Amino acid sequence: MEMAKIVEDVGFNILKQAVIYLPEDVKQALKKVYAEETSETGKTQLRAILDNIELAEKYEAPVCQDTGTIIFYVKAGSKAKDADKVEGALINATRKATKEIPLRPNAVDPFSGKNSGDNTGRYIPALNWEIVPGDTLEMTVMTKGGGSENVCIGGMINPGEGIKGLKKFAVDAVVKAGAQPCPPNILGIAMGGGADVSMKLAKKALLRPLGEHNPDPTIAKLEQEIFEAANMTGIGPMGLGGKTTVLGVHVDYAYRHPASFPAAVAFNCWAARHASARINADGSVEYLTHKLK
Ligand code: SF4
Repeated sequence: MEMAKIVEDVGFNILKQAVIYLPEDVKQALKKVYAEETSETGKTQLRAILDNIELAEKYEAPVCQDTGTIIFYVKAGSKAKDADKVEGALINATRKATKEIPLRPNAVDPFSGKNSGDNTGRYIPALNWEIVPGDTLEMTVMTKGGGSENVCIGGMINPGEGIKGLKKFAVDAVVKAGAQPCPPNILGIAMGGGADVSMKLAKKALLRPLGEHNPDPTIAKLEQEIFEAANMTGIGPMGLGGKTTVLGVHVDYAYRHPASFPAAVAFNCWAARHASARINADGSVEYLTHKLK
């Protein structure tokens, strides 16, 4: 089979896996907080979320009505074949998935307000490239809900405030977001680079498995501190009160200009959907996060 066709099929399969079946780490984290939640209302919300996840799996239907904006992350081996065909193949996969799964059409022209109807349009699906050694193509899809996207925030901290300023920036963002991002949330937080770099890193950090801290102990400690502070806000599941506001906090960074301290907080909702697969040079496929269903 031609590589472009393989990419299209795999793109479709990971999209289907992502929108129906939440990754195992997210499900386990939700079960854990359900067991630990002490607010009755919060617990009821978490029960509803867990039932929702089970029903989606049983009926093979998307776990949320908002099937999100489609974002692909591609790690392309420098010797991978037909890398120039990947973008077109993923656009085809998106159109097919929109029709067949189906997905809610979520791509709107900001000028005319017209919905393209197939989840594609200028720069959408969003495509992020990384060139790595080797000859494989590793693809991840994130389907990003609008409610949690609406509270993502980028800004500039006074460099003199440093990490303390970052903590305040992140916790203020959680308080301001309240119920909007359908908590419990995962937070991707990044600093440095420039305004664009920090937001890209923050969003990518949402893909890190829950429970896996940054390998740098200083950053892992910062993640834990923000995690605890966010859960002390009492916003709780779906914003109705409780001790579970975030499931995890993932921090990343880039070096910064001496006069600038860009920071970004990306929110993901409990429907933290993503799936990954690797295509080997011989065309064989390994599904990395989900079994092929
Ligand atoms: S924020 Fe997430 S859970 Fe809430 S409606 Fe959007 S996709 Fe669904």
